[in-house]
Amino acid sequence: MRSDTPDPERLIARLQALAGDLWWSWQPGGAPLWSAIDRDGWVEVAHNPVALLAKLDGATVAARFAEEPALEKRLAALEADRERYLGDTDTWHDRAGQPIRGLVAYFSAEYGIHESFPNYSGGLGILSGDHVKSASDIGLPFVAVGLLYRNGYVRQHIDGEGRQVPRYVDYDFDALVCRPVTGPGGRPTRVEVPILGETCRVQVWRVRVGRVDLYLLDTDLEENPEHLRGITAQLYGGGHETRIKQELVLGVGGVRAIRAMGLSPTVWHLNEGHSSFLNLERIREQLADGAEGVPQAIDRIRENSVFTTHTPVEAGHDRFAPEMAWRHLAWFAEGAGLDREGLLALGRWPREPGGQSPFNMTLLAMHTCTHLNGVAALHGEVSRQMFGRFWQGLPEDEVPITHVTNGVHAPSWQGDALTEVLDAHLPAGWRDRPATHPVWAAVDGVPDDDIWAAHSAGKATLFDLARRRESARRARLGLDAWADRLEPDVLTIGFARRFAPYKRADLIFSDMPRLLGILDRAPGPVQILYAGKAHPADRLGQQLVQNVYQASHHPALMGRVLLIEDYDIEVGRALVQGVDVWLNNPRRPKEASGTSGMKVSMNGGLNLSILDGWWPEGYSGDNGWTIGEARSYPSVEAQDAADADSLFLRLERDVIPLYYERDAGGLPRRWLRMMKAAIRTVTPRFHSDRQVQDYVHHLYAPG
Ligand SMILES: *Cc1c(COP(=O)(O)O)cnc(C)c1O
Repeated sequence: MRSDTPDPERLIARLQALAGDLWWSWQPGGAPLWSAIDRDGWVEVAHNPVALLAKLDGATVAARFAEEPALEKRLAALEADRERYLGDTDTWHDRAGQPIRGLVAYFSAEYGIHESFPNYSGGLGILSGDHVKSASDIGLPFVAVGLLYRNGYVRQHIDGEGRQVPRYVDYDFDALVCRPVTGPGGRPTRVEVPILGETCRVQVWRVRVGRVDLYLLDTDLEENPEHLRGITAQLYGGGHETRIKQELVLGVGGVRAIRAMGLSPTVWHLNEGHSSFLNLERIREQLADGAEGVPQAIDRIRENSVFTTHTPVEAGHDRFAPEMAWRHLAWFAEGAGLDREGLLALGRWPREPGGQSPFNMTLLAMHTCTHLNGVAALHGEVSRQMFGRFWQGLPEDEVPITHVTNGVHAPSWQGDALTEVLDAHLPAGWRDRPATHPVWAAVDGVPDDDIWAAHSAGKATLFDLARRRESARRARLGLDAWADRLEPDVLTIGFARRFAPYKRADLIFSDMPRLLGILDRAPGPVQILYAGKAHPADRLGQQLVQNVYQASHHPALMGRVLLIEDYDIEVGRALVQGVDVWLNNPRRPKEASGTSGMKVSMNGGLNLSILDGWWPEGYSGDNGWTIGEARSYPSVEAQDAADADSLFLRLERDVIPLYYERDAGGLPRRWLRMMKAAIRTVTPRFHSDRQVQDYVHHLYAPG
């Protein structure tokens, strides 16, 4: 061994410490370090450093570090940054006078933190992940609770006809970033949840996300009978029976896990109705602690209970048949002295006649939480309409549902090249300034060439990923190579989301002659990249996947329109950092917020969007375009036709001509002005730090 070869054991231990905290995933030097250690290995392990380190032996890594001394400096810099981060005593929460005296416990069914940790399906999970990251960044006393899924969420293969083929991976938890929590004597921390007269044992796992611990619950234990082991197998998999069992584990098991670890939250945040059962467990605790009956127990817990609703779509609210709810909750009712109707009333509208009306997890939250919110201003309004009759007699504008507009974790989504440019040209500390601060005006002064170069780098990365995924898919299916016509100087539109019917993924294909008329014509062509999964039970959604796939195989569109397989965080990041325009055309007002468009704006992409969700707040007149009008329509058909017409008009008259309006040097100067407006107006206002700060001021601290 050469004298300057580092000690292999020590080196591996240092790398394991870095890999064991997902903090690395939002540092500009994080992923590049892993990739520099073993470029091919990094791709093979799907960007999972825990798995990478398990594959490499210490001597190999030490040799690599000896060969390239800069690696040691990069590792040491990350270690120093992390130490500074974890020890910071001047966080936003400190400077705000520590408004949270105790601890916030946040419950969610999914967490999308990084592609290497498969604990998310889509928007709700990414939002929870970004919430956790910002809670860590701003120094909030905060823990998060969820489930650990053996098979994660469904992965998507697309066959030769464009049919979505579901695929579940059997994950090895040892190769993921989660680790079992242990208690006194090193014994694993376990809790018990009653499931239909049986006792289900639940293991608690921990994932470190900077300063925040994410606790995940797992029923796949040898000591459980087979039918209980599978409860936490799949995220949003199985039928209603599985779902209610999962929600019992999340809600009841989650509170018990928190107690088992000796934590005492002072605020409980139910992120969507999947976790509402947590308040049944808290009612049970209050009754054991002397509350006289359920109403008094509710009075004791409601003030520090926060509930966020995330969708105006009916099917998005979990409901269980009364017979099923009663079977699963009889143990609770018995302990609480409730009869069948008394129990079911907790999940129904006030004064609702019983009968067959279901037990609704959103209504359970409304019965037990004082602080309620939607996720954008318009969604707050829609929610007050939807749920107004819960507070019979109150005028709509007094219905106690407020809103906190969603945000995204900018350090996770803004491209490294662009961040470097902004670092070079903006006053120090720009990241932490509120939207009203003059630092943001400096974005307009960044040289056009620099912005364009950063954007072009993102676009190249996106095309690489699109080609890689499509080549792998075609090789798997034995199809001919892809006749790729992607070009860097061509206007590139992105569309990626869950393929739910209201999002209208195929709206642009509703008038093929008109689309063909603009796609390959002066002033220049257009290319469109799609990605998105449909839930395996959503037949219409899967039909949409197939529609888009088949449209992309129209002879005139081949090679210019592509549906990228298996939408995940890696694809999402590449898309938001590489597209010129982000298309968003849901049926208003069904999109509660939407967050992908925020990520696009922060990277200088321009939104072309229906005035739904966050866009009425985000649209400034010069940072993108609107589609359609903020009105209602007599029928879905009329709405779809009007919106499609508006979409085409925008493309024909505004978007395409502006993109191809170039100066002598080939730069689209007016387009660049809009890109800067997007970065300047959206980054501070739709940052998840701002979102979590709003939760602190308006929902957590009052509790
Ligand atoms: C941001 C993101 C979402 C949510 O985006 P919407 O605009 O709400 O559809 C979903 N999936 C991934 C992978 C994302 O990055």
